[in-house]
Amino acid sequence: MAITQPPLPFAEDALAPDISAETLHYHYGKHHKAYVDKTNDAVKDGPLADASVEAIVAAAHKDGNKGLFNNSAQAWNHAFYWNCLAPGGARPSGELAAAIDRDFGSYDAFAEKLVTEAVNHFASGWAWLVEKDGKLSVTSYHDADTPLVHGVNPLFTIDVWEHAYYIDKRNDRKAYVQGMVDKLANWDFAADNLARGTAWVQPA
Ligand code: MN
Repeated sequence: MAITQPPLPFAEDALAPDISAETLHYHYGKHHKAYVDKTNDAVKDGPLADASVEAIVAAAHKDGNKGLFNNSAQAWNHAFYWNCLAPGGARPSGELAAAIDRDFGSYDAFAEKLVTEAVNHFASGWAWLVEKDGKLSVTSYHDADTPLVHGVNPLFTIDVWEHAYYIDKRNDRKAYVQGMVDKLANWDFAADNLARGTAWVQPA
């Protein structure tokens, strides 16, 4: 047993032109795959050989195993991220929309806060919408760091590593972030995460 790289939940060209097939070819097919492969290579002969990616992240964090933490957290973060994307660009609805209005004032205020967090995050990392004790907030973590080790329930994320947007937008991170929020956000996934109340688990 080894951790898996779940299939993309959409066709490689489904998000174009905002996120091109070429970006997904590299981002999913090379970057994400490498994190999965390196995680499996690191655990294959040890006590974590049959562990879930979530268990590997937790163990690596507890043990201070930075290399294994970085690769396994990136494996999980990317699996989560693909679910945050969908062609179409619907607005949040139902309980998620109500929680956004309650905790940010309005969808527009929330979207601006999320975009600002993602654009201003210095260097590589991830911007997140998270829930803790029923309250929503926007935050960001550096490099591979993941909400799995911060005691919060992740609802939605934006990958702001340059490999997520450099082919399509070059240095213009804001164009990528704004495009994802306005046109490619899968709020149904975020709503499912809020309703569950515990962190999403990657399918084995
Ligand atoms: Mn990435």
